[in-house]
Amino acid sequence: MKAINTPLNESDQKVSLFIQEELKRQETHLELIASENFASRAVMEAQGSVLTNKYAEGLPKKRYYGGCEHIDAIETLAIERAKKLFNASWANVQPHSGAQANFAVFLSLLKPGDKIMGMDLSHGGHLTHGSPVNVSGKWFETCHYEVDKDTETLDMNKIREQALRTRPKLIICGYSAYPRTIDFQAFRAIADEVNAFLLADIAHIAGLVATGIHPSPIPYCDVVTTTTHKTLRGPRGGLILCRDEDFGKQFDKAVFPGTQGGPLEHVIAAKAVAFEEALQPQFTTYTNQIVKNAKALAKQIQSRGISVVSKGTDNHIVLLDLRSINMTGKVADQLISEVNITANKNTVPFDPESPFVTSGLRLGSAALTTRGLIESDFEEIANIIADILLHTDKIEIKDKAKLRVKNLCNTHPLYRESF
Ligand SMILES: *Cc1c(COP(=O)(O)O)cnc(C)c1O
Repeated sequence: MKAINTPLNESDQKVSLFIQEELKRQETHLELIASENFASRAVMEAQGSVLTNKYAEGLPKKRYYGGCEHIDAIETLAIERAKKLFNASWANVQPHSGAQANFAVFLSLLKPGDKIMGMDLSHGGHLTHGSPVNVSGKWFETCHYEVDKDTETLDMNKIREQALRTRPKLIICGYSAYPRTIDFQAFRAIADEVNAFLLADIAHIAGLVATGIHPSPIPYCDVVTTTTHKTLRGPRGGLILCRDEDFGKQFDKAVFPGTQGGPLEHVIAAKAVAFEEALQPQFTTYTNQIVKNAKALAKQIQSRGISVVSKGTDNHIVLLDLRSINMTGKVADQLISEVNITANKNTVPFDPESPFVTSGLRLGSAALTTRGLIESDFEEIANIIADILLHTDKIEIKDKAKLRVKNLCNTHPLYRESF
């Protein structure tokens, strides 16, 4: 048994070394995974704090354990900041993740066998929106809407017709691979017409919503769930919001004791720090830049003859349709990873390939915008990717691409010191 005060690099050199190697990987690769970001040192400090030691089942001032006075202050701060950031009347900051937030909402609003309607996974939806491999697809009846084949965007008339036909109890909007703006008001009208609850899952676009770059679902949806670690740039976690305080109380119960045990108060403290960061004017500058960068990336990729789903983007996501160059997502993912660019293969709407192969490559601009990259850098990234995908047999191009990636990483350092 090591002394309680021994630092990690002395007490466990194996784990310490792997962490250092992961830091080096993050610094030396171009991170284009659309769901990732780089949390601030302050966020990580809160998350690595002594709060990890504390049990605090319940809510501030209503706990099942003693010694919660400081925990209460922290969680109350997180709740107040979340409400302010999203202009909501009620917030629960305890969900361990986006999936947990959705599960709590389902427990609260639905009975097993009720019908839910979300976007098809292969069109950009999320596993928790009724996929057969997820509890949402196992315990509820599901129907899925798709994007329009020509525009590759949501056709609200078709979704309305489908809702009238299928009569879901819950409609879910908000996605994992949809590059366009969501019309929450139009979803509200449909939900009202079929007497369904409306959930917006803004896991991806939360940072854009918080800063007004994407319209807010709060005025239109019964409940809003999100992660805190994607464009919101906080610790890995979930959040539930709504505009009705009384309605919110049932979600409190669904989180605890409904679906979770003790809250992760160290993560909640980190959420509080991230929410305060997101309330600063610089964060709006940041989210504006995210969208500018994604647009620059989409434009340049298309100018090189590679198609992009829906022909562009309104947010941080650019989804390449590789059918335009007769390549699969699996191959493209492998090729860019060989030059230290990280992204993920992804289905495109009406994809002829399986989810393990796919015809798409999903790129996101949030993480590299945190590193300070601007439009011209994203044009360079588009050119690197195009060079790699269009000249798969040329070793010189690959070697040069590695140097170009290295140059972008070196000129945009990530964390100033190691941890
Ligand atoms: C990422 C994501 C989630 C799940 O978040 P986890 O924290 O990974 O559980 C849920 N919904 C959508 C739309 C997402 O993109």
